[in-house]
Amino acid sequence: MRIGIGYDIHRLVGGRKMILGGVEIDFPKGPKGHSDGDVLLHAICDALLGALGKGDIGTHFPDTDPEYKDIAGSKLLRKVRDLTEQAGLYVNNIDCVIVLEEPKLKSYREKIVTRISDVLGIDEKTVNIKAKTAEGMGDIGKGDAVAAYAVVLLAYSG
Ligand code: MG
Repeated sequence: MRIGIGYDIHRLVGGRKMILGGVEIDFPKGPKGHSDGDVLLHAICDALLGALGKGDIGTHFPDTDPEYKDIAGSKLLRKVRDLTEQAGLYVNNIDCVIVLEEPKLKSYREKIVTRISDVLGIDEKTVNIKAKTAEGMGDIGKGDAVAAYAVVLLAYSG
């Protein structure tokens, strides 16, 4: 088995869609970024790449490359899923934490789990999402940023 950890943070600004785990969240602000700024999928990509021993998201998908301008996190995750399959590994399970002051994500949780398991082609039971606030502290607490952490466990198939 191989384990990996991922983390991402983006600043929240007006005029951007809030996308988390490939799901659009109804909110007046969204993550600033070269890509769609989906912190959750970016953290999962990094966790997978870490478990594969293949560096990080910035190396594979540089933010200076116009190909990745506004690219959906789900497209990056699909590419990383292909690398996982090529390495002869499969996802045993994923655990994530989203840190966000607003809005409450409770009503989106199931949708996000479904979306992630669809993109990765894995059972919904192997994906767990937790949401926390920053208790009003720091940039996340002020509602100016969103962050996510992810841990994945990969296992060799066959
Ligand atoms: Mg990112």
